[in-house]
Amino acid sequence: MNINSPARDYFYNIWRTVYSILVGMRITLKYCFAKTVTLQYPDVAPALQPRYRGIHFFEIEKCIACDLCAKACPVDCIYIEKTGPRKIDKETNVAAGGLMTRYAIDYAKCMFCALCVDPCPTDCIHMGNLHDMSGYDRESMIVEFTDLAKKGLQTPQPLWMQKDDDRLPDWAKTRKREWIDFVHSQDKLSNDNKRRRQEMVKALDPKA
Ligand code: SF4
Ligand code: SF4
Repeated sequence: MNINSPARDYFYNIWRTVYSILVGMRITLKYCFAKTVTLQYPDVAPALQPRYRGIHFFEIEKCIACDLCAKACPVDCIYIEKTGPRKIDKETNVAAGGLMTRYAIDYAKCMFCALCVDPCPTDCIHMGNLHDMSGYDRESMIVEFTDLAKKGLQTPQPLWMQKDDDRLPDWAKTRKREWIDFVHSQDKLSNDNKRRRQEMVKALDPKA
């Protein structure tokens, strides 16, 4: 029999089809009996990995408004406005010069790629570990970090954290408490944090 005959090809194709279905079904069956990895979020906390990239936190007092983060952003969702150039003081590690009038990120566009983080020459924009950013309209997806800095904050508080504790599952109460403690740590009279917060406000208003 000719080994390249149409009949051989016909049966060979049938065998390949059956074989690939069997391979696919074997993988499907394996997962049918594997231990489940589904988490019943929001009743159960999301399992975040150490390298998780969540909502940014921003140290405005170190920002020199160089625009490198905005230029690196592939979706143009970082908005920066300033009154003049800013320069870092090597002794205090705080930027001085012009004022930051706007530093905002549109989370309706952000894809959490972290490409804005690496080019920053003063290491002042970071990916945080908050996983959730919800809102009732598109405008609320734009986080004005300069407005947050006026309140001494480096990252926004998600909507769910603003609910009363009795409406939150246990893990969320703990996460909320950690967030509040961190925020309050800006207010604690640790000299360094107090100075840092003053510098944040000064980046917006030198008379403050
Ligand atoms: S994480 Fe990526 S998409 Fe989001 S602001 Fe940074 S560079 Fe832009
Ligand atoms: S790259 Fe860093 S210093 Fe430059 S504007 Fe962005 S956050 Fe500020």
